[in-house]
Amino acid sequence: MTVQLYNTRTRKREPLQPLHPDWVGLYTCGPTVYSSAHIGNLRTYIFEDVLRRTLEFNGLTVRHVMNITDVGHLTDDGDMGRDKMEESAKRERKSAWDIAAHHTQEFFDDLQQLNIEPPTTVLKATETIDLQIDLIKRLETKGVTYRTSDGLYFDTAKFPAYGQLSRQKVSDKKAGARVDINTEKKHPTDFALWKFSQPNDQRQMEWPSPWGTGFPGWHIECSAMSMKELGEQFDIHTGGVDHIAVHHENEIAQSEAATGKHPFVNIWMHGEFLKLPGKRMGKSEGNAVRLGDLNVSPLAFRYLCLLTHYRKPLSFTSTSLEAAATALMNLWVLLEDQPVDPVVQPIQPYLEQFTAALNNDLNTPEAIGVMHTMMSDKHFSQSEKVATLHVFDRVLALDLQPETAAQHLQPVGAGYESLLEDYETARREKRFTISDKIRQQFADRGLTVEDLPDGTSRLRKQ
Ligand code: AMP
Ligand code: ZN
Repeated sequence: MTVQLYNTRTRKREPLQPLHPDWVGLYTCGPTVYSSAHIGNLRTYIFEDVLRRTLEFNGLTVRHVMNITDVGHLTDDGDMGRDKMEESAKRERKSAWDIAAHHTQEFFDDLQQLNIEPPTTVLKATETIDLQIDLIKRLETKGVTYRTSDGLYFDTAKFPAYGQLSRQKVSDKKAGARVDINTEKKHPTDFALWKFSQPNDQRQMEWPSPWGTGFPGWHIECSAMSMKELGEQFDIHTGGVDHIAVHHENEIAQSEAATGKHPFVNIWMHGEFLKLPGKRMGKSEGNAVRLGDLNVSPLAFRYLCLLTHYRKPLSFTSTSLEAAATALMNLWVLLEDQPVDPVVQPIQPYLEQFTAALNNDLNTPEAIGVMHTMMSDKHFSQSEKVATLHVFDRVLALDLQPETAAQHLQPVGAGYESLLEDYETARREKRFTISDKIRQQFADRGLTVEDLPDGTSRLRKQ
């Protein structure tokens, strides 16, 4: 069975035809580590994890590369903003390096809580400066760069195919648009390859280069790293939809201009945004919700994401999250005492439907639908269903196996028995001020009280 994926470059669903017989090259743009990841960012990483797991489910080996942007991402896309890392360092009175280290660790902790497989290779922008300088030198020899007072720029007019991903021409972008206040640029679409440190702006992160002391533009890191690890042409490149018009367009321009090879990437895939009702959520919008802010298991958030196709916007509400948490909890309860019987085979027709849904451009809502239909199908035994869930979980990664499910249900908070009893008594006697106080005491210890229908309660880790 082939895996069909929607390609932003061609605007078509296409069969994946790996360039190498033994592996698929996948590059995913990583986080800018100037602040914590929010659940919007994490939605994109969940989509990418489903992609990787689907490829592996189909027996393919994936070389998955991700960058960590720890320098060079500016506060606007027009190359005149300030470096987000340096801004954050000033605001928090820490070194830019400490900020990057802290948020990188926090990001990988988030991924782990969401059962997202770690990339096979992770590279930091600050560790690959030489690689980036080499690529810029290569571009210089092709005559597609020019110098201004603040940096070295890529001349998009010298790359006739510019705009192939977002389908805009160099002439379409108007000067004076939000992102363009850089008057020395020849065209609004031109972008910085290297920026110079300014005498009046002391930077913590800067390096010598043939053009002067400074730091790389944001886009060049992804071209340099992906080509080093995956070759000058590779299979799949992903990111959120906001990357299409600028970041990925620029990656294509500088990569193809340097190598002369087209296409740089066969399949470009983009995840739609998670939004708060009516609003976009962003690190810089100041309305970021983090994984740790949710008072349900992180996997309930993963489950919620799977219920919407990655190319559709996801409107996030606490009601939908709670519904997802309940649905997942029900599955865990069902699995708790159901050991997988190694001789029982997964149910073939459901396995086929599940695979077909995923191979159809990662249709996770349909795959989840197949799972629920299977669970309520009276023609099959419980142990056959458990065996099938076990296989589905290789892609869903929701801990749908007896041992892992049980961990979510284990009584937590040993030592709190008498406090929990006080809580139950207060509730029974309708003394809600007291029960609310105790609930808060549990919350301060990272525990959620779940009220059960029989009037008793149990504790769960938040
Ligand atoms: P950043 O750390 O800002 O570079 O973004 C990391 C990833 O999250 C990128 O792939 C972005 O396209 C993606 N992203 C940013 N905001 C959202 C959002 N609200 N919903 C989904 N993905 C997002
Ligand atoms: Zn990137």
